[in-house]
Amino acid sequence: MRLIDADEFEVISWSAQGQRGDYARGYDDGIQFMAEKIDKAPTIEAEPVINAVWQYYMNDEGKARWRCGNCGRICRRDPHDKLRCSTCGAHMTKEA
Ligand SMILES: [Zn+2]
Repeated sequence: MRLIDADEFEVISWSAQGQRGDYARGYDDGIQFMAEKIDKAPTIEAEPVINAVWQYYMNDEGKARWRCGNCGRICRRDPHDKLRCSTCGAHMTKEA
């Protein structure tokens, strides 16, 4: 699914641009039909996608650790096979 801003649609008219005839009227009717369909379409609640990275570091004991760049969750094992942080749900992209 791809979320878009339906308020940005502009209803265009071929007739208003000087075009005449059945084809121009049919075109405008089709555009108007779709504009009304878009206006009546239900809206959905969407949460913003949070992107973060696993930040590698060595702790005070010299052991390798990885920290979620969003929430700070610390992993003891390499978490790069995890696409999301299990604590905050951030979508992991690449290591910093
Ligand atoms: Zn996190």
